[in-house]
Amino acid sequence: MNIHEFQAKQLLARYTIPVPRGRRADTVAEAVAIANELAAPITVVKAQIHAGGRGKAGGVKLAKSRDQVEPLAREILGKTLVTPQTGPQGKVVKKLLIEEGVSIGHEFYLSLVVDRASASIAVIASREGGMEIEEVAATHPDKIVKVFIDPTVGYQPFHGRRVAFALGLPKDVVNAFVKLLGSLYTMFTAQDASLVEINPLVLTTDQRLIALDAKMNFDDNGLFRHEDVRAFRDLDEEEPLEIRASEHNLNYVKLDGTIGCMVNGAGLAMATMDVVKLAGGSPANFLDVGGGATKETVKEAFGILMADPNVRGVFVNIFGGIVRCERIAGGIIDATREVHLSVPLVVRLDGTNAEEGKKMLASSGLNLEVANTMWEGAQRIVALSGKGPA
Ligand code: GDP
Ligand code: MN
Repeated sequence: MNIHEFQAKQLLARYTIPVPRGRRADTVAEAVAIANELAAPITVVKAQIHAGGRGKAGGVKLAKSRDQVEPLAREILGKTLVTPQTGPQGKVVKKLLIEEGVSIGHEFYLSLVVDRASASIAVIASREGGMEIEEVAATHPDKIVKVFIDPTVGYQPFHGRRVAFALGLPKDVVNAFVKLLGSLYTMFTAQDASLVEINPLVLTTDQRLIALDAKMNFDDNGLFRHEDVRAFRDLDEEEPLEIRASEHNLNYVKLDGTIGCMVNGAGLAMATMDVVKLAGGSPANFLDVGGGATKETVKEAFGILMADPNVRGVFVNIFGGIVRCERIAGGIIDATREVHLSVPLVVRLDGTNAEEGKKMLASSGLNLEVANTMWEGAQRIVALSGKGPA
């Protein structure tokens, strides 16, 4: 799960990490009221969307006097921001963060991420912080430092000193940095985060460290024990079909292809997407209906697939292990009668009672094809629904 910058900064502050004073605003009037409250020489107006790269897209503006706050808030609220992280359709700004401006001495990059390869928490940092970190990583990988923290040992001050020296921090702020990174590590593990990114971490002209931007991502499997983090969820920022799927315990991720896939088991779902690609098509989604799929889940899954206007064909690929194929066949028959299926459908069933399931489908009178193997099914659905993007 992703959260907004203003929420991430609330968490940082709770763990004693310095952030600029500021609050969230939903309207222009609120933005002005907060700016008056802050009474800072410079006020920063920041778009709150679940995507980075806002600065370059015009979503972060500095008001040099207080009367500039109103026009800036008016300009950014409701604007569609297109950044490298939003996709070409962009994201509509529905919230702002109004903050006091900070006098920047230097912008650093600092992040913590779960690193699977080393089974540790990686600290990634660079002296070249600010808006171009992806470019730094691509063109000057030597300017990026990585320090790995073994979670069984935890954060030690030497980790912090190593990063501080690599960043070339002035001697006077090394101790503050060592403490800051320790707090960040404590927050990361205590909150089951999977990514915390501070870009930029600023050294102010008066030698203070401040987190000027913050992005956080949490492990969904740990959310059950973090009510406060769950409360940060913003459904405005999520894909509506993914919200609907999560309400029915379906693992659904929308993609940009045209073949709707309904599969049971994450491994088979991944394999199905590969095979659809191999057959020349492109999957419209990842969808795992789970090991215990019922008629109801199948019905709901069809509804979600058909609600995606890009879907030009549906491929159902089910292996009956725990679930029995004749039940799935019954679910498909019911669902296709209820949900108007306007695109070709290919079904491959294998495993427990597959023969019975296939017979039911073949004699249902429905407009569908039964495939005997996954490969045959993928080739048929691609042939029936046409290649290429939507
Ligand atoms: P992002 O573009 O989505 O990553 O948004 P950021 O929050 O990182 O803001 C982009 C840039 O705006 C930062 O790298 C800073 O250069 C600038 N910026 C943000 N807040 C301030 C501030 O308080 N003072 C100054 N001088 N610049 C700021
Ligand atoms: Mn940033």
